[in-house]
Amino acid sequence: MILVPSQTGRTFGLVTLMLPGTDRKRSLSLYQYRVTYRNPDPVEPGCAMTWEVSGGRLPYQIAAERLDGGAIKWHCSCADAVYRGEDNPDHVCKHVHGLLEMMPTLAKPQRSACQHAA
Ligand SMILES: [Zn+2]
Repeated sequence: MILVPSQTGRTFGLVTLMLPGTDRKRSLSLYQYRVTYRNPDPVEPGCAMTWEVSGGRLPYQIAAERLDGGAIKWHCSCADAVYRGEDNPDHVCKHVHGLLEMMPTLAKPQRSACQHAA
């Protein structure tokens, strides 16, 4: 993890994770998560944090939405999250799953992870 101070004085981070890649064998590949927004209020409902993910076929955006009551709802712009998430609200794509593995305190008690490449 690399922390970089921005011009606004806030520190943003860059995290590199190894996730199943996009090839047929799902070989481990490097994915970079760059923090693009962090809400300074740690309890305010709404957008809590966003990341830009690179390393896959396309760049994706992840958003952590803090719901009333404090639970976190995850959003990812990848096809897996969009299409499988429609039928299963607890589904998380591999990008979100990787992030949750790195920060287990953010994870919901139950979640499912997709093993499909995005
Ligand atoms: Zn995703």
